[in-house]
Amino acid sequence: MGKVLEVKDLVTTFRIGKKEYEVLRGISFDINENETLCMVGESGCGKSVTTLSIMDLLPNNGRVVSGSIKLNGQELTTMTAKERNGLRGKQMGMIFQEPMTALNPLLTIGRQLTEGLRLHLGMSKEEAHKTAVAYLEKVGIANAEERMKQYPFQLSGGLRQRIMIAMVMAVQPSLLIADEPTTALDVTIQKQVLVLLNKLKKDVSTGVLFITHDLGVVAEIADRVIILYSGCKVEEGDINTIFSKPLHPYTIGLMNAVPNVDKDDFEIQPIPGTFPNITEEIGGCRFHPRCPYATDRCRAEVPAGMEVEPGHFVACHKVEEEMRK
Ligand code: SF4
Repeated sequence: MGKVLEVKDLVTTFRIGKKEYEVLRGISFDINENETLCMVGESGCGKSVTTLSIMDLLPNNGRVVSGSIKLNGQELTTMTAKERNGLRGKQMGMIFQEPMTALNPLLTIGRQLTEGLRLHLGMSKEEAHKTAVAYLEKVGIANAEERMKQYPFQLSGGLRQRIMIAMVMAVQPSLLIADEPTTALDVTIQKQVLVLLNKLKKDVSTGVLFITHDLGVVAEIADRVIILYSGCKVEEGDINTIFSKPLHPYTIGLMNAVPNVDKDDFEIQPIPGTFPNITEEIGGCRFHPRCPYATDRCRAEVPAGMEVEPGHFVACHKVEEEMRK
């Protein structure tokens, strides 16, 4: 499997007032073709900033300070804004939580679907129309020809999200970034959208970066998982490893904070303390104020992270010390 995306030591900052604060603190990860990497963490951990850094859509006060982002082997951080703009939609597609932010309310669904195909794949009007209808059918939309004539406001949230998926996947991007795409949908529609994304990923061999805070969704869709905490990657592994033997205290805390309907005596244990603000200065491990195992070393030294077994990465002094015993 070829690598679609390679992110290495990515540091992104936001300027607030006169100071610049690190929002991503040197994160690294790869995504292969036909693979879904779920990025998990509480709000403010840096998930969305990671996607915006990759797409070159950071707000005016944000910037990538250092590190590398490669898409199909091409370095993105040194490209011009125009070059990167050219990759969006064609090589990189994005699905948001609220499809109305990406759909134009003034244009019909058909116009929006065919425009992308004509622009990115150079299709004729007829070809683009045929492909658009085929993709609407692929995402399970009945009466596709009729839907092509409708405007976004005439459709339900679930239908709009399917149309968004059809629009992005019809262009057959190498990388799909899905930022909480199912959060606003009810559970049955959510399940259908996840099944659909999985199917289209396989059809097109796309690499998917799926952002979510919902471990139930992760269990449904992920091949691999990366856990972020306050701008740092704290753990990464394949789906079975992360669910069956999580090692980082924060990952374990996240698992214990989710209800488990299979166990009668399961008690939800919320992670103590509060999630830090980006402006908060915390020395050493950013999780130490909330960690029951924090030591003086944790308060002084940022854990470098180690591969505890092939493909399983953890950044924690306690885990590292136990491994070395
Ligand atoms: Fe807890 Fe220390 Fe590990 Fe951080 S490095 S998670 S504070 S044990």
